[in-house]
Amino acid sequence: MIEDKNQQHTALSHLGEFGLIDHLTKHFNIKQSSTVHGIGDDAAVLNFEDRNVVVTTDLLVEGVHFDLSYAPLKHLGYKSIVVNLSDVYAMNAEATQVTVSIAVSNRFPLEALEELYAGIETAAKIYNIDVVGGDTTSSTTGLLISVTAIGKVAPNKAVYRSGAKPNDLLVVSGDLGAAYMGLQVLEREKEVYKVNPNNQPDLDGYTYIIERQLKPEARKDIVELLEALDVKPTAMIDVSDGLSSEIMHLCKHSNVGCDLYESKIPLDPQVISVCEEFNIDSTTVALNGGEDYELLFTISQDDFPKIKGNPNLSVIGYITEHTSGKHLVTRAESKIELKAQGWKNFDD
Ligand code: ADP
Ligand code: MG
Repeated sequence: MIEDKNQQHTALSHLGEFGLIDHLTKHFNIKQSSTVHGIGDDAAVLNFEDRNVVVTTDLLVEGVHFDLSYAPLKHLGYKSIVVNLSDVYAMNAEATQVTVSIAVSNRFPLEALEELYAGIETAAKIYNIDVVGGDTTSSTTGLLISVTAIGKVAPNKAVYRSGAKPNDLLVVSGDLGAAYMGLQVLEREKEVYKVNPNNQPDLDGYTYIIERQLKPEARKDIVELLEALDVKPTAMIDVSDGLSSEIMHLCKHSNVGCDLYESKIPLDPQVISVCEEFNIDSTTVALNGGEDYELLFTISQDDFPKIKGNPNLSVIGYITEHTSGKHLVTRAESKIELKAQGWKNFDD
């Protein structure tokens, strides 16, 4: 679906590995005081003084995690950074640096990598992080991107998956299921295009969900909001695989159960209407869709007044004793055991 704009196609072999790294990273400037030395030596040098350091890494593989027939490289670069920062924020930490490693086949011209790096640079600017290193190598198959994100947190501020206590409230930021429905629309348009390449996709009315799929944001703002509200979550995780499995992780690590209320799950109106169009249950999508990159956390009931009414946050349930089990309370007020997968016909 990405048209060839008759762009230049400079073979990577023209630059060589060092010329390429130099070319792609020459605009990156240092923003964080913890970055002592960035790209250009055998290793970066960082200084975090009295902060604890948070490190997380992700590997994205063409054909598994992204499809270049509808994911523009610029968005892919942006997303590859954002999904890692999301993990840093899920520790209640501030993201400060990333390293970016790529394996690329010679079917990619320099201009394609420039696009990828333009997206990386935009994300670095928006999230105020430094790109301090990486690795570049060739691939015989597709494109691989591995990002490592580094962050800092005051030792008493880090939030783990393991801190949820019975009676805590279960809270999620933003809304859920949009990225999955965006992917469904993109997959459908890809099939239409395959049948007739003259069919230009009509994506009006799907803007929000497609953007949620192709160019997600990490909830740095929520970490800052919680700090401003003086709320320290008791446990936190980011929603990358779907609400259901993230709740299961929190409960498992905290050794607790939970009641999740179907009616409280936040959904964007566009998700509801596209679910109707695709004849998919919107709760199923929110529970199992994934790639929302929202933050799911628990708070003590005492902190409820501080978050009450905040449009960015929804209380979707509460934590129970481990022995009570993990349940979804449906709109019809029946209690169903929460499972990581397979929410097909829970209404009947
Ligand atoms: P080495 O041989 O020690 O692995 P490289 O020549 O691979 O060094 O890298 C030189 C410098 O460029 C290092 O600072 C490295 O972190 C950085 N770098 C290499 N590849 C990338 C990349 N794809 N993106 C950002 N920085 C990179
Ligand atoms: Mg190297």
